[in-house]
Amino acid sequence: MSAPLNIVIVGGGTAGWMTAAAFASVLPPAKRRIRLIESSEIGIVGVGEATLPHIRFFNKRIGLDERELMAKTQATFKLGIEFCDWARIGDNYIHPFGAYGTPMAGVPFHNYWLRQRAAGIDVPIEDYSVPIFASRMNRFALPSEDASEVASMFGYAFQFDASLYAQYLRGFAEARGVERTDAKVVDAKLHGEDGFIESVKLDSGVEIAGDLFIDCSGFRGLLIEQTLKTGYNEWTKWLPCDRAVAMPCENAGPLMPYTRATAREAGWQWRIPLQHRTGNGYVYGSKFISDDEAAAKLISRLPGKALGDPRFLRFTTGRRKLTWNRNCVAIGLAGGFLEPLESTSIYLIQIAITTLLDYMTENSGIERKDAAQVRFDPRIVDAYNRWIEMEYDRVRDFLILHYHATERDDAPIWNYCRTMPVPDSLVHKMELFRRRARVITYKDGLFLEPSWIAVYLGQRVMPEAWNPLADSAPAALVEQKLRDMRDKIQRAVMRMPLHEDFINTYCPAVKPSMAGAPS
Ligand SMILES: Cc1cc2nc3c(=O)[nH]c(=O)nc-3n(C[C@H](O)[C@H](O)[C@H](O)COP(=O)(O)OP(=O)(O)OC[C@H]3O[C@@H](n4cnc5c(N)ncnc54)[C@H](O)[C@@H]3O)c2cc1C
Repeated sequence: MSAPLNIVIVGGGTAGWMTAAAFASVLPPAKRRIRLIESSEIGIVGVGEATLPHIRFFNKRIGLDERELMAKTQATFKLGIEFCDWARIGDNYIHPFGAYGTPMAGVPFHNYWLRQRAAGIDVPIEDYSVPIFASRMNRFALPSEDASEVASMFGYAFQFDASLYAQYLRGFAEARGVERTDAKVVDAKLHGEDGFIESVKLDSGVEIAGDLFIDCSGFRGLLIEQTLKTGYNEWTKWLPCDRAVAMPCENAGPLMPYTRATAREAGWQWRIPLQHRTGNGYVYGSKFISDDEAAAKLISRLPGKALGDPRFLRFTTGRRKLTWNRNCVAIGLAGGFLEPLESTSIYLIQIAITTLLDYMTENSGIERKDAAQVRFDPRIVDAYNRWIEMEYDRVRDFLILHYHATERDDAPIWNYCRTMPVPDSLVHKMELFRRRARVITYKDGLFLEPSWIAVYLGQRVMPEAWNPLADSAPAALVEQKLRDMRDKIQRAVMRMPLHEDFINTYCPAVKPSMAGAPS
């Protein structure tokens, strides 16, 4: 039997431990050796608190127990993101995790809504969304498994303490044989012939050799950039925020089943309710406000009593030119960062891990030919890189839409974003929606039709016309159907318990001393 594949993960933040946990649970123990090096001296970013519904599939695939995970990470449920003051000051909309209404005669629901609106029946589109109505009412229940019920028409994600999530995954991964070293990587040795990474050197002087290196070292991109000089595509011209200041506070008011993102004078502010505290942060452009001013603004707007000091973070939006270069794959912040507006980073980590695992297990993209040599199929490496690029580019366009489709002219950042040229791919999408209410959706990747509709309409990108097929049904029938839909949604939501009560029975937080590792 050939020797196991020697996998070395550098970094123990969310990316490093998600990778370690997934590899350890999916790859057979006899076929792999997984080592993770992290430096407790350097620490982790630890602010990735809001997620997307896809995380549930990841957790399920690797065998994590949802209730235990939630209890040990102080988690709450998330039904969407509320955007305040984005298109105009005073505006408010929710990007929900679920559809608006149901299609009729194969025509997407929003076309009927537009037709009714044009006829003077001005019911907000959010009244046709279960997750939005539930968010407004602070209610939550797990979606019904009966697809004919309106209570099945939504998904959910989590809001959790990112440090506890990494700790929890660490326990899970170590129990499955992952070997952890607390040390600083100070150097890397490259193979003379092909420039592949042969080993990394620790501050203790120890060298750790590997076949495959996963760079999860965060923004510094220790292996992918500092060692392999892969290069970075920077997107600051479209996503101008490059700093954040974070500061948690005590909970105040009811526990919301959603994240809030409020547009501000130089960026935007997040509010993420967890069981034990509320996460807050101001994401801003350094060209538009100083660090001290941003921190002062954040502190003055905290919804509860501050916990701890402000933490400053710097970043450059964009992605590596290649996230798989030679025998190194960069996952997490080492691979790129698109700013946290739509909570997409953990999703991008998850996609990188599962795509890599699929290529390793299904397509034999990485194989040990003999005891000494591992084969990396260049076609697989190329396909992987194109896939990850596509994922980043799609998220990028969706994020830019929030900044660009604004009518705000009260601050330099909004004047800049409103008038900036945007990628052609986004121009085309916006045009189609404006002309005909058409949403370009993808077979794979983020985001689906309801997400685009929520943000287009929420940002006041209003269609001039809709799908003419929506005009075929008699007006009275359409009106009746829409009214029924609203009633059903209201009744379904009002049967749900309050979010806080649901959490208290489903996944109440365990004491901090017992949090972290799985039981
Ligand atoms: C302001 C902000 C808000 C965010 N909010 C969200 C959100 O709501 N939702 C979301 O999905 N994502 C969010 N993110 C992104 C999220 O925080 C990251 O994707 C996630 O934490 C993964 O980080 P990481 O593991 O790649 O890097 P890090 O957390 O930085 O971890 C890097 C690891 O590498 C180790 N390391 C570095 N150098 C060395 C070395 N020389 N030797 C040994 N070890 C080393 C460190 O010790 C650490 O363990 C946010 C990011 C920012 C900046």
